[in-house]
Amino acid sequence: MARTRVCITIDTEFSIAGAFSDKTKQPVAEPLVWCNVDGRSEGLGFMLDTFRRYDIQATFFVDTQHRHYFKHDPMRPIAQQLHAAGHEVQLHAHPCWTNFQNSDWRNTPRAERISDDISQHSIEATVKLIDQGIDTFKEWGIPRPRAFRSGNLHHGDGLYQALAQTGITYSSNIGVAIHDSGNPDYRLFSGQHQRHGVKEYPVLSFSDWRIGPKQNIKSLTIAGSSFAETRRLLEKARSEGIPLVVVLTHPFEFVQKRDLAFTQTRPDRLTQGRLRKLCEFLQENSDRFDACGLASAADAIPAAQASENKLLKGRLWHTVPRMVAQVANDRIGKWKLAQQYGKAGRNALPEDVKTLQGR
Ligand SMILES: [Zn+2]
Repeated sequence: MARTRVCITIDTEFSIAGAFSDKTKQPVAEPLVWCNVDGRSEGLGFMLDTFRRYDIQATFFVDTQHRHYFKHDPMRPIAQQLHAAGHEVQLHAHPCWTNFQNSDWRNTPRAERISDDISQHSIEATVKLIDQGIDTFKEWGIPRPRAFRSGNLHHGDGLYQALAQTGITYSSNIGVAIHDSGNPDYRLFSGQHQRHGVKEYPVLSFSDWRIGPKQNIKSLTIAGSSFAETRRLLEKARSEGIPLVVVLTHPFEFVQKRDLAFTQTRPDRLTQGRLRKLCEFLQENSDRFDACGLASAADAIPAAQASENKLLKGRLWHTVPRMVAQVANDRIGKWKLAQQYGKAGRNALPEDVKTLQGR
């Protein structure tokens, strides 16, 4: 039996940081990726260290549209470093950055701004957007992208047609619990699916609880699932013959922040612990699991295989402790950030959090 591929995918992007709606704000570049705390990178730096330590190849979906705003191109050295470290660098795109092509963007009314939803764009406009990315990769001296992920996981038939036109034949544009386009043809939970000549590998979506007829669907992210849940899903995927599992994360999920500019941050030990444990598990079980890039995984899966759309089920006794830990982690983070950066008096640590922390 072939190893089950596990693709840790990282959307690597900068942030508009509220600049469209607030004239006092500016887009933010590197802080959103490196997430430095006291001179140490707790975002991308932490991830790269962890991947190196456990011999994991990851897939970084890198956005290039920020070049319409940041003329000095701060993503260039980041993409080059990711490629040099042996990871796959693939293409990500948030169309909202194309608004900066208009020098009067500050005064453009919201209704007239270019939508960040790629499915609202024509096939021609989408091809142009993707071509900007392909050209950028060429300029950066890194291999042509072979896989694509849309911003916010927006998708529609036009996106797949545009991808096929540009020669990008792999994609991961779907995570049902993150964005549901309402089109049943794209309600994909797992596996490999052909759409308009492109092979789609959705972020794994699973049911984390069901009470009576009500079922909750979740997409697999580091920020949203505990290691116990993730491990069980990997084992289930393997036993059910799902050939690859796509996990989604972002560098900024590994810090807690107080502001959109990421000037007041602290490491998020909960999410960092989850990534470390996942990587350790993948290394220890490398006879059964292969932590590899999305295009390498896609290359290895036979074309006719795995078009089934299986929905894996989680366990309630994993879901509930994860929810409790998450709430506690968020509240402790807020309180500690307030202590560190001021206004601590208004944010005394609540009793219930103290109890949770002590367990
Ligand atoms: Zn994104």
